[in-house]
Amino acid sequence: MPGVKIDINYCKGCELCVQVCPTHILEMSKEINLKGYFYARLNEPTHCIGCQLCAIMCPDVAIKVQSHGTRFVLFE
Ligand code: SF4
Ligand code: SF4
Repeated sequence: MPGVKIDINYCKGCELCVQVCPTHILEMSKEINLKGYFYARLNEPTHCIGCQLCAIMCPDVAIKVQSHGTRFVLFE
């Protein structure tokens, strides 16, 4: 199963990762980080397909994806 790590204190709450995730498993937290932004968090990590789109999209490099045997199902 792919692993997604979000460094919440690098997040500026732009929501780009939430928009791009093809499995809709990223959401914004109701809490704020050290910078005062609502940060992205992962909901349902077992549904991640390891596509890395969230990490590629994030302008602040706050997301790292470790994937083994990525299954590319980007747009169904
Ligand atoms: S790697 Fe892909 S499926 Fe997993 S959280 Fe990021 S955008 Fe979503
Ligand atoms: S794309 Fe990056 S900065 Fe924007 S909400 Fe997602 S983790 Fe935060």
